[in-house]
Amino acid sequence: MPFPGLPERLRVVQDRIAAAVARGGHGQRVEVVAVTKTHGADAVQAAWDCGLRAVGENKVQEALSKMDEVQVPIAWHLIGHLQRNKAKFTPRFALVQSMDSPRLADALHDVGVREGTVIRVLAQVNASGEESKGGYAVDAVRADADRLRTLHGIAVVGVMTMAPFDADERVLRATFAGARVAREALCEAGHPARELSMGMSTDYEVAVEEGATMVRLGTILFGERTP
Ligand SMILES: *Cc1c(COP(=O)(O)O)cnc(C)c1O
Repeated sequence: MPFPGLPERLRVVQDRIAAAVARGGHGQRVEVVAVTKTHGADAVQAAWDCGLRAVGENKVQEALSKMDEVQVPIAWHLIGHLQRNKAKFTPRFALVQSMDSPRLADALHDVGVREGTVIRVLAQVNASGEESKGGYAVDAVRADADRLRTLHGIAVVGVMTMAPFDADERVLRATFAGARVAREALCEAGHPARELSMGMSTDYEVAVEEGATMVRLGTILFGERTP
């Protein structure tokens, strides 16, 4: 078996998630998205075998080639920046977590309409205001919310955010709370925005305390990535 420590690591993570839900008081369900980027298709199989039902990949091509290698009906989430010329591949993903601009929203809508489907997306929010990070500003989500409702080729089912690397707890909480505010704005505009994807290996407990419904975990499940 390729990732022998995975079942035990996952058990520990799930216990910590349950404790964080109790502390945070949001009462939400939390889905673990196994981030399999840089690993082989065996990581996807291993995730499936221990009961996980979603994997996250940050590159379209890498994800597509793994899709061809594994036969399990797991949900593929795109979590990395998507170039508009690759939007045509998104019908193969259960969720595009990285819709980071109005122009990408348009491109995804076009694909949905053309393919006769609805692309499920999360609005990626840059809630920390870091210059280097992509994504909608929180106010920009609010400003685009009504227009997004007219794009019937996409369904905006929530918000995704990334906290700054190595941020202290105060910054983490402010970032995650900002994402929550963005989701609220989408809900008020009539979107079915139930999901709040936030939290990675180093900060998922704080994210869950702040209401995360999805955590994206790579290193803590599969070990360090070798690039
Ligand atoms: C790589 C990645 C993760 C997982 O990071 P870990 O620290 O290994 O858990 C989560 N989200 C996104 C967007 C990523 O690119």
